[in-house]
Amino acid sequence: MSGVASVLSAAWERTLDLVFPRRCVGCGAFGAFLCPACLSATPRAQPPRCRACWNRYEGGDACFRCLQQRPAFEAARCPFVYAGAAREAVHALKYDGLSAVAATMAEAMAGVLSEWRPPVTALVPVPLAGRRRRSRGYNQSELLARELSRLSGLPVNGGLLMKRKATPSQALAADEAARHANVEGAFAVRPKAETAGALLLVDDVMTSGATLDACARALVAAGHGPVCALTFARED
Ligand SMILES: [Zn+2]
Ligand SMILES: [Zn+2]
Repeated sequence: MSGVASVLSAAWERTLDLVFPRRCVGCGAFGAFLCPACLSATPRAQPPRCRACWNRYEGGDACFRCLQQRPAFEAARCPFVYAGAAREAVHALKYDGLSAVAATMAEAMAGVLSEWRPPVTALVPVPLAGRRRRSRGYNQSELLARELSRLSGLPVNGGLLMKRKATPSQALAADEAARHANVEGAFAVRPKAETAGALLLVDDVMTSGATLDACARALVAAGHGPVCALTFARED
């Protein structure tokens, strides 16, 4: 960002803070979208975990599920378990229209990214189907990827993946097989895409990993890879 732009954006942020003061999505305290107390009370997605899907697993490198069928992504990571204030933050971003919380969420993701250092050259947000994007006004994954790009310096490749059809909510699916069936063939790589690259998929929450797997599968089939994935939280 240029000097003038960053001064303007800081001034704009101060103005926004006056009109819409930041409140913690966890406890309602003024000052930040996630206050230090709520942040430290939110369970972090710490090891021991499967090196591939980051599911809780103590038995070694990869969990049984990944040994049985390796996901199309190499590895997934996230700062938080989908609980407490992390859950509130996702809800605020996704259902309450609080797009500004994305910057705070991306900061936690950037912390994981700088420790993890996956060999990637661009960020790819998980796309929404057109209808859902229009009704929400934005794609939450795109906002997270944009903020993460600002913090990490990695470019966002927002045009690479597209969603071909609307899919039912993964959170409401009966089981893992249903989640995979939901997203089967849902994602496609736009033709005439740039040269193949090592990519980092960005999403808000990982449920079973079926959505990230379907996205990675489409990217790998189009010649990209390796593909890794970073989310803000995951269901344990
Ligand atoms: Zn709080
Ligand atoms: Zn696994």
